[in-house]
Amino acid sequence: MNAHPARPIQQVVIVGASLAGLFAAAACAAAGHQVTLLDRDELGDDALAHPGVPQGRQPHVFLLRGLQIAEELLPGLGAELRADGAVEFDSSRLAWLTEEGWSTVCSSELIGLSLSRPMFERAVRRRVLALPGVQLMAGRSVTGLRRTGATERPWRVRTAEDELAADIVIDASGRGSRLPAWLSALGIGPIRTQEVDSRIGYAVREYTDVPDLDGLAGIVIGSTPATGRGGLALPVEGGNWQVLASGTGPRRPPRDVAGFEASLRALRDPALADLAARSTPVGDVLIHRRNGNRRHRFEQCRNWPAGLLVVGDSLVSFNPIFGQGITVAALDARLLRSGVSRPLDARATRRLMRRLARTAALPWAIAVGQDLRQPTTTGEQSGPQKLTSAWVRELGRQAAHGSARAQLTASRMFHMVGRPAALLHPALLVAAIRGRLGHGGSPTARPTELDLLAMVEDEPAGRTTAADVTGVAGRDRRPGGLADSRR
Ligand SMILES: Cc1cc2nc3c(=O)[nH]c(=O)nc-3n(C[C@H](O)[C@H](O)[C@H](O)COP(=O)(O)OP(=O)(O)OC[C@H]3O[C@@H](n4cnc5c(N)ncnc54)[C@H](O)[C@@H]3O)c2cc1C
Repeated sequence: MNAHPARPIQQVVIVGASLAGLFAAAACAAAGHQVTLLDRDELGDDALAHPGVPQGRQPHVFLLRGLQIAEELLPGLGAELRADGAVEFDSSRLAWLTEEGWSTVCSSELIGLSLSRPMFERAVRRRVLALPGVQLMAGRSVTGLRRTGATERPWRVRTAEDELAADIVIDASGRGSRLPAWLSALGIGPIRTQEVDSRIGYAVREYTDVPDLDGLAGIVIGSTPATGRGGLALPVEGGNWQVLASGTGPRRPPRDVAGFEASLRALRDPALADLAARSTPVGDVLIHRRNGNRRHRFEQCRNWPAGLLVVGDSLVSFNPIFGQGITVAALDARLLRSGVSRPLDARATRRLMRRLARTAALPWAIAVGQDLRQPTTTGEQSGPQKLTSAWVRELGRQAAHGSARAQLTASRMFHMVGRPAALLHPALLVAAIRGRLGHGGSPTARPTELDLLAMVEDEPAGRTTAADVTGVAGRDRRPGGLADSRR
């Protein structure tokens, strides 16, 4: 049934049924359209990791903004994920070694979820496919596009089997999208593409029987331009943890277990290597090496056609160091929801493409700004990028010197929630000046919970807490904890 009788129902074909495609489908269905999702993978209802999303087995951080929009599009999704075992997660309680030192561990209202990417995608897929007007054609690889010149259903989406007619085509086929080539075959373009690649590689292994970290949400050891190595450990459903090592250029972690463990050992702090050593591995080490930043400037194309849209990684893909991709895909869907509820002539399509491009601008500046500081990256930082990354480092410095305000501001920025103006709060500016004058406070101590990982060799893993070891309760007892920084 047409929920918007003033407007004819549009036939939308979406190429790619991973997260960007699924969010886009939910948005188009909310606007009352008929949606067909095409994916080259065989995606049964219960499919978890699938070959078309090779990054799916790597750890994924779900930023609050993305979770909020997913909930908006699919009400009740969060409760469903919690019921399926997703872990409540306060990123302000991460033991996080930034370039400037250990961040202040505090508690915040920024409670998200930690779970594996395949489980998240499966839950989203089930919900989207239950929406009226949405269907999935799995095992269909799209090979190109054709335009008929008709006013109704002017697009044809080609697969090996047949062609599907559409009013609106949305490309959500990810980082490996062939859209620029398909457009070139139609005489559309040229399309300008920006790439910034630090040649970063990731390796992950899953563990069980992980020692209790007494209220810490996880561990992050940030990479620096000098070391080029980083890593993290995060909980997922089922009581397991994913431990990740990263490195740029020649320091990319290898696939073999000894090399992976050596990469953890080579980090600036032994916490991750200790955690892995005291836990039980589950499965192999999995690596991923296609992680560069790439942005197609479709919005600058002069002859961009009516009814063609691009979302998610097909439009902009990031080095996932800041975990932004899914949230940007969710933001794209939000724009689509209002954009496709009006007729999409060429002008309206271009306007929507410009808005989609703008959505990715700040996440792009953050990811690229960080990567351009790595010696393995070619390219120069622009003036605004230098300023952005210098201010991000300054927030890190304040958070590493006991400032809960800086920590929470950085967390909100990281989660893409809150107002950008909060980044320039007078208290942060004053603290920056005081820091320059040598009155920046004392460095935050390494969270004592981490001592447990190295200290107790003979206790069975997962039994003893830091409080047992130190005799002190876990929260707010660090020099830089929330209680101290308020004094
Ligand atoms: C190592 C790594 C870690 C990441 N970590 C995070 C993180 O922590 N947090 C975060 O938010 N994001 C992260 N990301 C990014 C995140 O994975 C993506 O942003 C997110 O999956 C949305 O991508 P997408 O749906 O646009 O594309 P993808 O997830 O890549 O999916 C593309 C889909 O299109 C299908 N497809 C491709 N070509 C065709 C075709 N011709 N015909 C039909 N179907 C086709 C594929 O089968 C696939 O299902 C990470 C990325 C990488 C590489």
